[in-house]
Amino acid sequence: MRRMEDTGHEPTPFTPTRRTLLSAAAAAVPLAVAVPTIASQTAAAAEPDHAPGPGRPPRPQPPDRELRRLLGELDQERIQATVIRLTEFGTRHTLSSQTDPVRGIGAATRWLFQQYQAIAATSGGRMTVALQSFVQPVGPRIPVPTTITNIVATLKGTTSPDRVYVVSGHIDSRVTDVLNFTADAPGADDDGSGCAAVLELARVFATRPTEATIMFVAVAGEEQGLFGSTFLAAQLKAAGTDIQGMFSNDIIGASQAWDGTPPDPRTVRLFVEGVPTSETAQQTAIRQAVGGEDDGPSRQLARFVQDVAQNEATGMRVRVIWRRDRFLRGSDHIPFLQQGYPAGRFTEPRENFNHEHQDTRVENGVQFGDLAQFCDFGYTTRVARVNGATLWSLAQGPGTPKGVQIVAAVLTNDSTLRWQRGTEPDLAGYEVLWRETTAPNWTHVIPVGDVTTVTIDLAKDNVHFGVRAVDRDGHRSPVAYPVPAT
Ligand SMILES: [Zn+2]
Repeated sequence: MRRMEDTGHEPTPFTPTRRTLLSAAAAAVPLAVAVPTIASQTAAAAEPDHAPGPGRPPRPQPPDRELRRLLGELDQERIQATVIRLTEFGTRHTLSSQTDPVRGIGAATRWLFQQYQAIAATSGGRMTVALQSFVQPVGPRIPVPTTITNIVATLKGTTSPDRVYVVSGHIDSRVTDVLNFTADAPGADDDGSGCAAVLELARVFATRPTEATIMFVAVAGEEQGLFGSTFLAAQLKAAGTDIQGMFSNDIIGASQAWDGTPPDPRTVRLFVEGVPTSETAQQTAIRQAVGGEDDGPSRQLARFVQDVAQNEATGMRVRVIWRRDRFLRGSDHIPFLQQGYPAGRFTEPRENFNHEHQDTRVENGVQFGDLAQFCDFGYTTRVARVNGATLWSLAQGPGTPKGVQIVAAVLTNDSTLRWQRGTEPDLAGYEVLWRETTAPNWTHVIPVGDVTTVTIDLAKDNVHFGVRAVDRDGHRSPVAYPVPAT
């Protein structure tokens, strides 16, 4: 973990040289007069793994003062109480009773909905809570048409309300037989932990205005086939909602596997796909021609998470795994990927499968079942902090640049990038990032000012480029990877 440094926006930190200062056309919009200066920084070349070229090494974005306060308010005892309360509904199986006042998915959903309503009451009218119900038709894991109900709490942004981030846990639970809706299915870790973390995040965000909109969601029907998240993602897509990041928190309850391996209480895994699930034939053709399989929007989102949430304020390492999900498993980020939204899945460092999807029982002296006794609520609280740092930094920062292109109309040995200017009132400008094609993460950042096109003295054939926005407070956006424009 690198030590945090205060890094604000640096418009022109370097002295340009004739060799490195190339054409930097001002934006083709009125009032855009800033001219960026691009220079190499020789000190960077001294680092062994740092390829020579313009820019400086990127530094992590430190938490701002309000974010530190927010993270400090995330309450382990509340998270613990929520997980335990959710286990007390006996089962939260999708096919269990929707009308029984104390047992089943209906009672659990009503209880969690009330918790969200109480939180929304503290938001000054910015948070609204809705029950989103639909009837899932018969399928392999749905023997009769079944009403499935998501809880969706929307915290409306102040200045960029149309830009939306989504965070979810799933409320339903299961045992060994996925169709068994009568046996106790406590679902403490899977996924009481995710539901509790998202509820607690909603509580600490509700009292703080954010620039962009955040949706805190308890999706349903996950174990039967990702039904709740599939419905939600499709609804958002049909409404044209600009989802710029989605995170599923699924199985974030245990810091150790209880299998003799050492605990790993300060690591959370973040699964992110490479080649986008939603890739079109045209996008495939571009990728096959010029690469970019490690630069889909979900990968950029994961790099952002490490940048803003892997620090002493969260106390966590974010172990990014370049894979859509674990073998044989999936979660609620997948329907969002299918709709073309960037998304990832947080999950604990190493699972014990005796405590997931199991009948609660003792066999040969071994306790099976997803029981709260195997949860580490301090761990879940730290994972909530990772989410909190991520969501706050996304919602308070500028949106991911749109329309980012790399000009490839003729053969040249430099690289011209262009993009659309964002509409955020506190937008300060842009940074170009680059790295060797074989490097996993960005190694150089070049502040280019408030422009919408720039030419860099590096051959686009040899490196990867990206563009991100910066606001006046030094908040940065996730990186956008350019598409070639001819
Ligand atoms: Zn789950």
